[in-house]
Amino acid sequence: MSKKRVLILGAGVSGLSVAWHLGKKEQYECVLLEKGSRPGGWMASQEDQGFLLEKGPHLFKTSRSADLLQVIEEIGFSSSILPSSSQAQSRYLWTDGVFQKMPKSPIALLTSSFCRPILSSLWKERNVPSYFDDETIWDFACRRFGETVAEHFFDPMVSGIYAGNIKKLSIASCFPILKQWEREKGSVVKGVLAARSNKKTKPSCKAPLFSFQEGTSSFIEKWVSTLSVPLHCNEEILSLHREKEKWIAKSSQNTWEADSVIITMPSYALAPLLQEEAFASAEILKSFDYEDLTTVSLGWEGEVLPFSAFGYLVPSKEKTPLLGVLFDSSMFARKNTLITLMIRGIGYSEESLYKIVDTVCLSHLNISQKPALFSTAEKKKAIPQYYLGHEEKKQQLLSSLSKEAPSLFLTGSYLNGVSISDCIGQGKHLVDSCF
Ligand SMILES: Cc1cc2nc3c(=O)[nH]c(=O)nc-3n(C[C@H](O)[C@H](O)[C@H](O)COP(=O)(O)OP(=O)(O)OC[C@H]3O[C@@H](n4cnc5c(N)ncnc54)[C@H](O)[C@@H]3O)c2cc1C
Repeated sequence: MSKKRVLILGAGVSGLSVAWHLGKKEQYECVLLEKGSRPGGWMASQEDQGFLLEKGPHLFKTSRSADLLQVIEEIGFSSSILPSSSQAQSRYLWTDGVFQKMPKSPIALLTSSFCRPILSSLWKERNVPSYFDDETIWDFACRRFGETVAEHFFDPMVSGIYAGNIKKLSIASCFPILKQWEREKGSVVKGVLAARSNKKTKPSCKAPLFSFQEGTSSFIEKWVSTLSVPLHCNEEILSLHREKEKWIAKSSQNTWEADSVIITMPSYALAPLLQEEAFASAEILKSFDYEDLTTVSLGWEGEVLPFSAFGYLVPSKEKTPLLGVLFDSSMFARKNTLITLMIRGIGYSEESLYKIVDTVCLSHLNISQKPALFSTAEKKKAIPQYYLGHEEKKQQLLSSLSKEAPSLFLTGSYLNGVSISDCIGQGKHLVDSCF
C-alpha cells in the first residue's frame, strides 16, 4: 500500500514535535518545510562577545516539562542538560522601591514576613464558593484571594510568562489547573497541597529548572540530526490550495503535494494562506492576539550582581514597562555576569531604553560598572495571549476548519499552551489523535 504523504509547515518546536512523532509511523511519508534558514523558531541561542544569548526560551521548569524531557532522553541529550543552581529558587519582587523575597515553597510561604499580611486570605480561600465559568485571571485571583494577592503574586507571575494583561487573560486557558482545582477540590490551596503530596514520578533532572550547557540551539541541532523526516529550510510557503483531494503548497521555487497538511506556523502567518480556501477559518485566525517584547541583555566580566537569584519581577502597579529581570548567569551558575531585561512592547527610542537600563543597574542593582555586553532585540508578536473567550474561539476555528479544509490540521503556541513543553505535548497529541 502506498504511504500517505503529509506536509508539516513550520519547523519551530511545534513542527519538530509533529515531525518527530509522525516520523515514527511507517505508513506516512512526511516533509518538514521551514521559511527561515534554520529550524527551531523562537528556540535559538548565539554567542555574543563570549556571552551565550537566548533569543526566546531561557529556562524550563522541570516539574512542567515531561514532554520536553522525554524528547531529550529519546535523542540521547540528557548529559547536555544544565541544571539550575540552588540560588535559582530565590525570586524577588521589585515593589515600592525595595526587593521583596518571594517564598520558595508553601511552607516558606506560611512563615515569610512578606506573606504574613496575606495569610488570612490564603486561609479563607478554602471556603470561597466555586465559580465554574471562565473569568479573567484578575477576577479569579481577587475573588478567591483578594486584591493584594492578585497584585503581588498573580500579576507578576502573568507578566513573567505571558507578558500580558491580567485583566484580559483567561484563567481557564492560561492556568487550567487552577480552575480545575477550584472545580474538583473547591480550593486552589487544597489543590496545591494535594499535588505536592501526590508527586509520583521522579523527573530525570533533579533541579527545579534547567537549560542546556551549550544553549538551546544545541538541543535543536541534536534533535534535527535524529529526525527521520527530511527538513527543507528557506522554503516559505506562499500559497495553499486544495485540488482533487490533494493539498498543494507553493514556495517561490517549489510545489509540494500531499494528502494532509499539518500547519505549525503562527496564526498571523497562516491566516493569509487560508484566505481563499477557508475564508471563515482565516478570519478567526486573524483574531488571535500576541504581545510584543523588547529584551536587553547586559554582560559583565566577573560577578557584579549584589545577590544570587533567579531574578526579579515587577508588578504592573509600579507603572513601568519593565516586566522583570532574569539573572541568567546566577540561575545557571555560569561564569561572568549576564542578565536579561524583559520590557513590554517594542519601538523604544535608544534614549528610553538607556533610561530603563540605568534604573535597573543604578537604582535596583547598584551596579555602576559599564557593561561589556549591551545587546537589545525587538521581538514582534512574541507571546500569544489567551484572552477571555479563547476556548470558544478555538472551538469555532476547529469546527470551521473541519467544514472548509478537510485533512488540514493545526497546532502551535497560539492554541493550548505557550511553553516549549506545551508545544511538544500538543504536537504529540495531534499525531496520536489524528494519525
Ligand atoms: C522572548 C521569549 C521568551 C520565552 N521564554 C520561554 C521560556 O523561558 N520557557 C519556555 O518554555 N517557553 C518560552 N517561550 C515560549 C516558546 O519559546 C514558544 O511558545 C515556542 O517556541 C513556540 O514554538 P512554535 O513552534 O509553536 O512557534 P515558532 O517558534 O514561532 O515556530 C513557527 C515556525 O514557522 C515558521 N514559518 C512561519 N511562516 C512560515 C511559512 N509561510 N512557511 C514555512 N514556515 C513558516 C517560522 O519561521 C517558525 O520557524 C518564550 C518565547 C519568547 C518569544
